[in-house]
Amino acid sequence: MLPPGATIGILGGGQLARMLALAGARLGLKAHVFSPFPDDPAFDVCAARTRAEFNDEAALAAFAESVDVVTYEFENVPARTAQVLEAHRPVRPNPRALALTQDRLIEKEFVQSLGIATADFVAVDNAGALPRAVARLGRNSILKTRRFGYDGKGQTQLRDGGDLAVAFRTLGGAPCILESVVPFAKEVSVVAARGLDGEFRAYDVCENLHEQHILAWTIAPAEIADATASAAIDIARRIAEAAQYVGVIAVEMFVVVDEGRETLLVNEIAPRVHNSGHWTLDGALTSQFEQHMRAIAGWPLGSTRSRGRVEMRNLIGDEVNAWPELAREDGVCLHLYGKKETRPGRKMGHVTRIL
Ligand code: AMP
Repeated sequence: MLPPGATIGILGGGQLARMLALAGARLGLKAHVFSPFPDDPAFDVCAARTRAEFNDEAALAAFAESVDVVTYEFENVPARTAQVLEAHRPVRPNPRALALTQDRLIEKEFVQSLGIATADFVAVDNAGALPRAVARLGRNSILKTRRFGYDGKGQTQLRDGGDLAVAFRTLGGAPCILESVVPFAKEVSVVAARGLDGEFRAYDVCENLHEQHILAWTIAPAEIADATASAAIDIARRIAEAAQYVGVIAVEMFVVVDEGRETLLVNEIAPRVHNSGHWTLDGALTSQFEQHMRAIAGWPLGSTRSRGRVEMRNLIGDEVNAWPELAREDGVCLHLYGKKETRPGRKMGHVTRIL
């Protein structure tokens, strides 16, 4: 167990790093944030800062030497960056978990190898492979880049009669997968943690609503059958165990209802704290951010017990301008990320309400 006073190195300086640093501070753990962007919001709240590129190996080595353990707030950490850091200090979650989740094809094959269902998919390495993939899955499909997709970026839904070559070019000609459109009733996620000793704890399964591919709203617990919730948590547990995972993990799933029966398909794994877990800051005894710090510092996991029915709303772009009214509203817990510039689609803060 790293003692209070130990330093956690965090790669990336966005709001997730900021909330990790704040949660660590409550336990007496210091944060050293590494990011190329001087205006990043985590730089405001950490004990030490490195502003350098992720391929600056000298800066990475010095950073690793100055911390006790390294973690990250985003999954697109280059493999070489993780390798350089790992030569100096433990990297948690382990770089294999990163590799599994950075590439949609590898991720889906990994999930299926555990006997867990996903949407049907076919690898599409080049434009020539797309017509064959469409012949197998049909037009009711989504083409997604294998890497670097987030918030709906790097994906396009095929249209009847649309030109396949154009669809492939829209995504920059990068290797893709084609995925069947899932007629889901709900999107849910499991936010959970696995400790250094293998202990696993999950929060209530939550339901997520996306607007323009960006998470807008989460409610916990999700209104799904108890057996579905247990099955969802079991899926997250099996994924975390197979990846020998340490830290907070989020698994996004589709709930499909067929003749009144709910089934689950895994859509995506995030090897980090996740927007759909922000409700835990006010709505659970231990927030996902504290939980992640506990896990990677080798502490026992905290209680994931919920304080009630909890709703979280993101403040995206100009929505953040409502902060004075939100600050006044009874029962609202307001979180602002301190970002200098408001841009459309940018996550500026969030609010939670215990219902
Ligand atoms: P992703 O980047 O894969 O998480 O996708 C972003 C959002 O697009 C998801 O949260 C869904 O709302 C939607 N989406 C992605 N894949 C599918 C699919 N196969 N079927 C239906 N909707 C999807």
